[in-house]
Amino acid sequence: MIRQYELTDTIRAYNPASDEQLINRAYVYAMRAHGSQTRINGDPYFSHPLEVAGILTELKLDDATIVTALLHDTVEDTDTTHQDIHQLFGEEIGQLVDGVTKLDKLELSSPDAAQAENFRKLFMAMSQDIRVLLVKLADRLHNMRTLHFIPKPEKRARIAQETIDLYAPLAGRIGMQNVRDELEDIAFRELNREMHDTITARIDRLTVGGEALVLPILTELRGLLGQHDLAGKVYGRTKKPFSIYAKMQRQGIGLEQLSDVFACRIITETVSDCYRILGLVHTRWAMVPGRFKDFISTPKRNGYRSLHTTIVGPAKQRVEIQIRTQDMHEIAERGLAAHWSYKDGVRGVEQSEDLTLWVEELAQMIEAGDTAEDFLEHTRLEMFHDQVFCFTPRGDVIGLPAGATPLDFAYAVHTEIGEHAVGAKVNGVRQPLNHRLANADEVEIILSEAQSPQRSWESMVVTGKAKAAIRRFFREENHQQMVRFGQELLESGFRDAGFSMTGKTLSKIAEMTGLEADDVLHEVGTGRLALQKILTMLYPDIDTQFKIGKSEPLRVDRTGLVPGVGLHLSRCCFPVPGDRIVGVRDAAGQVNVHIIDCAKLVELAPMADQWLDLRWPSKDITTHHLVRLEVDLVNQVGAMASLTKLLAHIGINIDDLVFLHRDQSVYKIRMDIEVRDLRQLEHVKNAISTLDEVTRVRRVRGDEQTRDREGRYYGI
Ligand code: MN
Repeated sequence: MIRQYELTDTIRAYNPASDEQLINRAYVYAMRAHGSQTRINGDPYFSHPLEVAGILTELKLDDATIVTALLHDTVEDTDTTHQDIHQLFGEEIGQLVDGVTKLDKLELSSPDAAQAENFRKLFMAMSQDIRVLLVKLADRLHNMRTLHFIPKPEKRARIAQETIDLYAPLAGRIGMQNVRDELEDIAFRELNREMHDTITARIDRLTVGGEALVLPILTELRGLLGQHDLAGKVYGRTKKPFSIYAKMQRQGIGLEQLSDVFACRIITETVSDCYRILGLVHTRWAMVPGRFKDFISTPKRNGYRSLHTTIVGPAKQRVEIQIRTQDMHEIAERGLAAHWSYKDGVRGVEQSEDLTLWVEELAQMIEAGDTAEDFLEHTRLEMFHDQVFCFTPRGDVIGLPAGATPLDFAYAVHTEIGEHAVGAKVNGVRQPLNHRLANADEVEIILSEAQSPQRSWESMVVTGKAKAAIRRFFREENHQQMVRFGQELLESGFRDAGFSMTGKTLSKIAEMTGLEADDVLHEVGTGRLALQKILTMLYPDIDTQFKIGKSEPLRVDRTGLVPGVGLHLSRCCFPVPGDRIVGVRDAAGQVNVHIIDCAKLVELAPMADQWLDLRWPSKDITTHHLVRLEVDLVNQVGAMASLTKLLAHIGINIDDLVFLHRDQSVYKIRMDIEVRDLRQLEHVKNAISTLDEVTRVRRVRGDEQTRDREGRYYGI
């Protein structure tokens, strides 16, 4: 076990301004808190946080991170509370410990690749401060180093799988190659012992033979550097079993084809030395085409810089050679931790202007799902603050934009789930569908077969997927409903006219209009294709005397009219006998008849001398007149049929019918019907209002301009 003074000495060696007293307090506090707790192997439990702190000193991290490592399991495993930590160690450390504790509660259940990626994002979103992630990675590294003490094989396998899926890629992403390699290697040995041992044995055999082959290359390289007066350390190494295994999987090659296991590294002083050495290497040995990579002029996004090339040695063996400066090497080994500097004894931010850029690049990279080792800004992780990651009851992670609701979640899982959602349980507590979700919420959607999307849902979701699905549902439903209405209208209309509407009739209409049968019904349902027009088209001989827009013969009792002058019933107010009317002569000499209180007359007031006092004939009225009604119906199957049936029964002809507005509970239609006079109109209105399905019926006049759903005026 690391002793107290050893820990502080190590820290002081790289950070002279370290607060020794703070480290000591944390050391003693954690040791006392864990007390007599032991680990599975019998060691005092405190040895674990201490080792985690030790790993972080190797990465030369700041005091707050080291203290957090010492305290990281106290809240979870001892009587210590968050308040205690905040009070004793301040806000910064309090928040870091909170962060680590929260991460401990997350458990990845699904090994599915897409899930793992979401889970990694969740991890970063919840870390907020990169140091939380560093402590968690060090924690996992120590747990992996002691994995073999866990007796249950299933538990070891689960931890190893989680390490491969989650922690190793995270370590790679922030550029900590050594941590990544070690995590992968221990996990690989646990998960596939046989393959691990086979590859290791193969490496050993190749190394025994290979060392002999590689050694001369190393010696020759050293000689070359000396001759050209170049400073540099030259050493050889073999690749890690897991990276070899991953490569075999990627390239589909067998173990026997495996020869590319040697690498050789040259650490030199300046960038120009790197390129000079590269020139010497390429002059001396043949290079393998396609293997040269210049990460100095084009660094990896995690900040990694180096030259890579592969040469063919004297015995035809391939050897990869990496050439880099000491600074580049630091970054390659320690990742973002290398950016902590302790200039003048104070932890400072190097290249602070570049930092913003790094964060942005990183956010983009993670958005793009880049799995390469990448790099994180070193204190704040703000890029995921506009996202939330939630769990299904099965443990799958669903990524959503900030502000998302259980309804978004339901649609993200499946459109079917969204459409039948009636409520949700968030972390076991019943919540409404518009509840705002937070990171790591577990969301269970409550379903009902009877449920279907509501108009109000559109304002309850933020995801494009949910919005589009809800709109699509209403478009489709609207279409279906219009088709059904069209069918009802055609059937009753044909019956009233003494014909029957058969499948054959419909195909004939389709043929004549050039529409699909379904579209014919839809057009009729929406009122764009009038029943009268269809009847006239199919049966040209039918009596069409009541067509709209035609001047009606009208007799008046007392007029100042010149015989032979045409009378025209205005389309703005649809006068019928019984209405008080007035005639206005237009420039062409035609007399237009308006209802006495028609709004249009206000416009015509300046021409008052052209007004004529008209009366309807007192008897013998046989002519029919168009009148316009607006009817509100309950939105239910058969409502439209009841209305049309009733009108047919009382002998009223529907000349045109337009749907103005529809929602879940009600729809509004405009009908032009033919009546003899005001009295008959009143009878019709009364009859209509007796229907259960009708909530309102009224006559629409020219002075009642109303907009329909598309914003068009109607009622004139
Ligand atoms: Mn731990």
